[in-house]
This record gives sequence, C-alpha cells and structure tokens, in this order.
Amino acid sequence: MTWHVLGAGSLGTLWAARLARAGLPVRLILRSDERLADYTRAGGLTLIEQGAPQRYAIAAETLDNDAPIQRLLLASKAYDALDAAKRLAPRLAQDATVVLLQNGLGSQDAVARHLQGRRCVYASSTEGAFRQADFQVVFAGAGHTWLGDPLRPTAPQWLADLQAAGIPHQWSAEILDKLWRKLALNCAINPLTVLHDCRNGGLRDYPGEVASLCAELTTLLQACGQAAAAEHLHEDVLRVIDATAANYSSMYQDVSQGRRTEIRYLLGYACAAANDLGLSLPHLSDVQRRLLAHLAARGLPLD
Ligand code: NAP
Repeated sequence: MTWHVLGAGSLGTLWAARLARAGLPVRLILRSDERLADYTRAGGLTLIEQGAPQRYAIAAETLDNDAPIQRLLLASKAYDALDAAKRLAPRLAQDATVVLLQNGLGSQDAVARHLQGRRCVYASSTEGAFRQADFQVVFAGAGHTWLGDPLRPTAPQWLADLQAAGIPHQWSAEILDKLWRKLALNCAINPLTVLHDCRNGGLRDYPGEVASLCAELTTLLQACGQAAAAEHLHEDVLRVIDATAANYSSMYQDVSQGRRTEIRYLLGYACAAANDLGLSLPHLSDVQRRLLAHLAARGLPLD
C-alpha cells in the first residue's frame, strides 16, 4: 500500500526517504505546481546522514491530484495540519489511516474531528532533523517515535513497514501521556530559553523560575487526568536541561530565524486547558504573556 507523505520538510523527508529506501511505495504531496517544479528540478529528496548525502527520486504530486489515498503521513507543522487535512479529506478512503506527526496537542484532535471515520494515529517523536536547503534534510539526532490511537488500542499491521524501513518506533496505548509529557517538558524549557536568550543549559541560572513552572505544570497534568505524565516532571526537566545544555531549543531557533512558532499547540494549549478547568497558574500565564509580547515585538504570529 502506498505511503502518501504530505510535506517534504524535515520529518516528512526523514520518513519518506527511509520508507522508499526499504522498497516501499511512497508519494510526496507538495503544496503547489511551483513547489512540484522546484522538486523536479532538485531531482528528488536528499537525506544527509552522518555527513553522507543520498538522493531519493520519490514520486511527487500536488494537493490537487485526485487519486484516492489509503495511508497518509501528515508531516506538516501543527498550525498547517488542519488545513492540509481539509484539502485532502475528499481523497481519503473511508477506511484510510492518517498518521499525525505534529508536536504539542490540539492539532491532532482538530484533524481527527474533521476526518471522522478515518483512523487517526497520533505520533510523538524524539528524532531530530533540519532542512539544510530546499528538499535537503540533515538527520541530526537518533531518537524514537511512539504511535498510538486514543480511540482504538490495537496496533495496525503497517507497523511492519516502519520495522522494514528501520524507523525506531513503539506502539503505545498511552500516546496522550507521551504527548502531554513532551508538551510539559517543552513548556518548562523552550519559552524560558527565548525570554532569557540562552541555550538550554543557560536555564541552570534560573532554578526558581524552572521549579515554579514545573510545579504548576504538574498541577495541570494531574487536573487533566494525566497523572502518569506528571510524575517526576521537575527531575526530568532538570535532566533534559543538563543533557541538552549546549543546544538551542526549537522555539529559540524559530524565533531567532524569524519563523512562526508552534506556541498555540504548546504553551498556548497548556494555558487554555488550565483556563477551561478554572485553574489559576500565575507563573505559566506570566510566561505566556511575556512570550506573546516578545513575538509581537518581532512581528511574529501569536498563534
Ligand atoms: P518543516 O520542516 O517545516 O516541514 C513541514 C512541511 O510541511 C514543509 O515542507 C511544508 O511545505 C509542508 N506543508 C505544510 N502545509 C502543507 C500543505 N498544505 N501542502 C503541502 N505541504 C505542506 O517541519 P518539521 O520540522 O518536519 O516538523 C513537523 C512537525 O514535527 C512539527 O510539529 C514539529 O514540531 C514536529 N517535530 C519535528 C522534529 C524535527 O526535528 N524537525 C522533531 C520532533 C517533532 P513548504 O516547504 O512548502 O513550506
């Protein structure tokens, strides 16, 4: 069965290249004729692993193609996922599966609501990749991807394709725990790195702020029924700060390069959840207020 991959960005390329390398049928979906012409000129997708580039001439089409889709990997940013799903909905078979690779929370539920009937598998990945140039992606960090379906706990048979492609993965009946935990880690680290203009390790100079955020995020996770995701959060945040001390967070990189952030699906989602529950989390709200002001001052989108 063909893997349709929407988005020839970092993760889309990382998945498409490995699936194609394993001899599995893959088709890329690009946003316009112009992007398709750029892709044709580039001669395919290039994945650079340990400094070695390898080109994959994967077939590609635009959103306007009308051939039916049985399996879709949606590899856009969270803020683009619903629009992309709306564009592709008429092409999706009733028993199609859609794998959602977005970080944070909120976009997956929005897509699943729109695509009712189709199986939506949520993914949480610690793999790292970045775009070096158009259609050229560097595989920057080995990691793992958890996949799960909040509505149906049975693992799908196509996981064998991921095995064949060497994509490290695990089916998880608790995918929402994984996504919440990752969101909480992100909320405790990424916004502060932007506000303090520092690498992750620079947060060692702000232990009180980190501790206050972790305490409030723990309260939030517990109130949202995510007690497992709340366990030892502060310890884990300190561990991540140490383990990634030399790195700039993804939000830091987005802001410093003038790119739109996924704030609405990370800190914004946490603050909205607290609001819905009537929880007062003053440190989290204060960080959100300061971050929004920081983005506004740079002319970056606030959602
Ligand atoms: P990315 O490099 O920006 O790639 C997103 C791709 O989606 C772009 O190529 C974009 O096309 C494409 N796209 C968006 N809307 C589209 C549409 N309607 N039709 C066709 N293509 C469309 O993003 P990414 O880094 O792969 O991130 C994807 C998600 O994975 C994010 O939620 C991110 O937080 C998460 N994640 C990323 C990493 C990582 O290391 N990169 C790790 C873990 C999680 P254009 O090129 O035309 O703009």
